[in-house]
Amino acid sequence: MTDRPKQVVVLGSTGSIGVSTLDVIARHPDRYQVFALTAQRSFDTLLEQCLRFQPRYAVLVDEEAALKLRQALAETGCRTEVLMGRAALVEVAAQPEVDAVMAAIVGAAGLEPTLAAVRAGKRVLLANKEALVMSGELFMSAVRTSGAELLPIDSEHNAIFQCLPRVTLGRHEPGQGTNQLLGRLGVRRILLTASGGPFRSTPLEQLDTVTPEQACRHPNWSMGQKISVDSATMMNKGLELIEACWLFDATPEQVDIHIHPESVIHSMVEYCDGSVLAQMGNPDMRTPIASGLAWPERIESGVGLLNLFEIGALHFERPDTQRFPCLRLAAEAFSTGGTAAAVLNAANEEAVAAFLERRIRFTRIPAIIEQALGHIPVSAADTVEAVLQADRLAREYARQMIQAEA
Ligand code: NAD
Ligand code: MG
Repeated sequence: MTDRPKQVVVLGSTGSIGVSTLDVIARHPDRYQVFALTAQRSFDTLLEQCLRFQPRYAVLVDEEAALKLRQALAETGCRTEVLMGRAALVEVAAQPEVDAVMAAIVGAAGLEPTLAAVRAGKRVLLANKEALVMSGELFMSAVRTSGAELLPIDSEHNAIFQCLPRVTLGRHEPGQGTNQLLGRLGVRRILLTASGGPFRSTPLEQLDTVTPEQACRHPNWSMGQKISVDSATMMNKGLELIEACWLFDATPEQVDIHIHPESVIHSMVEYCDGSVLAQMGNPDMRTPIASGLAWPERIESGVGLLNLFEIGALHFERPDTQRFPCLRLAAEAFSTGGTAAAVLNAANEEAVAAFLERRIRFTRIPAIIEQALGHIPVSAADTVEAVLQADRLAREYARQMIQAEA
């Protein structure tokens, strides 16, 4: 353990992952100090967090909310400096004093600040899977050039990481499927587990009429709304397939997806000698968060110990690709390469937002994504501008489709 507490930025501190991160940090005041907290517009939660953690900076993207926060903090005598706008997210993530950045903004909005942390060579705790999905090649090559320390926080990828020998992610030569990392480690397959979400066994004809409330009622995990809907369509697992391919330099064929409704095993790694290693635990994101913060050490997370023997039986089944077309769409987008995954992600974000606003039916989500993938031309994803342009085009197209349905 080092003497100076690590300076941590929490991007998206008011969300589900952000709040869990602060819960872990609060248990270790000698090890971690909050350098900056950021949110889009949640004034009340951010105010409370600033008073409790006294960060150097607080960022609200929304200017009106930021001005209100500045005023409220001034009245309490809190010395936190309030910044506003999207550029401020990038600025705090790359400050020289910062040791670690928790990337917990949801969706494409997290791409630029997360990349800024990567380029500044920080320890990057990656929850914001959409950033990696959109820009995989660019992202991983930035990790390699800057020497950033990339730690997966998504529970499955954190589990896989824990089941590998100690490796530094992103140091292998870039390029899909060159398979250098897994081959060198003697890994045959990655066994990626999925809960199957709330509609795993809902009769197919009822999927047309499910509500946002039903979609957000996840059987095992409590999460933000967007990822909850992604779990219900299994696009979450599609995004995670792409995420695993980039993080571990795997081909999609090396990643085997299994539904495991108990969410006790968070994923497994199968080796060429027949060994299969699994990481288990209660479904609580504070475990992967604590693991990423302290890696390679271990710290208390506040998560209760797993009582495996009381659970009794663990179950596994193959996902039904007819029920969950998003799995196929994600695999296809990754194989297409270039900007296809950015299009997939953007169309999904728009469709999920429209479903949450009750503007489209649940079953239209994959249909809109498939149409966007068929319509937006694929180009090389070798600059941030190219990725953001694909993101914009896909959103515009998806919005038109959604409007046409209203
Ligand atoms: P959430 O909706 O609960 O929180 C999102 C956070 O991002 C909030 O602080 C919000 O203010 C901020 N934000 C939203 N839009 C923004 C914008 N345009 N600009 C700046 N900030 C913005 O989401 P969450 O469930 O905590 O998920 C965060 C990320 O972590 C997602 O990428 C998700 O896929 C991933 N993740 C979450 C879980 C989980 O258990 N919640 C598990 C694995 C991975
Ligand atoms: Mg996950």
